[in-house]
Amino acid sequence: MSETIKRSGNLIIVSGPSGAGKSALVGSVLKLVSRVRFSVSYTTRAPRGTETDGVEYFFVDRAEFESLIGSDSFLEWAEVHGNLYGTSKAFVEDLMMQGYDVLLDIDVQGAGIIRKKRPDAIAVFILPPSFDVLQSRLVHRSLDTETVVEQRLKRACNEISHYKEYDYLVINEDLGSAIRELESIIVGARCRTAARVESVKSILATFGGMDAEGS
Ligand code: 5GP
Repeated sequence: MSETIKRSGNLIIVSGPSGAGKSALVGSVLKLVSRVRFSVSYTTRAPRGTETDGVEYFFVDRAEFESLIGSDSFLEWAEVHGNLYGTSKAFVEDLMMQGYDVLLDIDVQGAGIIRKKRPDAIAVFILPPSFDVLQSRLVHRSLDTETVVEQRLKRACNEISHYKEYDYLVINEDLGSAIRELESIIVGARCRTAARVESVKSILATFGGMDAEGS
């Protein structure tokens, strides 16, 4: 029996301050774990470096973003560093219905909204090993100006204060270990009893008509 066609996917929220290594972690896990997809958010911020429309984000202007808010197209949206970011309802739901686990790289505000709407979502916080390491990562990746780096560091302190609202905490000191931890969280979530109800029904049927509720 193939479980892949019987399960609807999990929603996995990944948050953490800029420079905590979320993108590298998420990118590796997407390559290593089967049936996981990334939720491509909409944003009003300009593309950075080699970012491509439809891959890292859907890049839109403020008017288009506001019209998407008006048509209730977002599962959540928030203003981060002066730009708008939003998770597309249709994008996420289509993938989950196809049985994919969907990884959401979103900030703490968005995570709070999704957790209220979807209590079954699994929330993971990525923490850098120290402030100094975070600062040095932000300076060395040199994607941002000095002022932007300062803003991101200030915001990092606020974001980190929310870590207790998350189900799992990954400390990204060594990327390899952090990848293995995130991978384990995703695979472990698939084994939760509630996530396996559909598979269980057909297994129990082979045991002579027991139902999934256990009677
Ligand atoms: P960046 O501009 O560095 O790609 O992302 C800035 C912040 O926005 C990150 O903390 C990222 O997690 C967050 N973010 C990205 N997409 C979304 C989204 O759809 N919703 C929310 N609430 N935050 C997002």
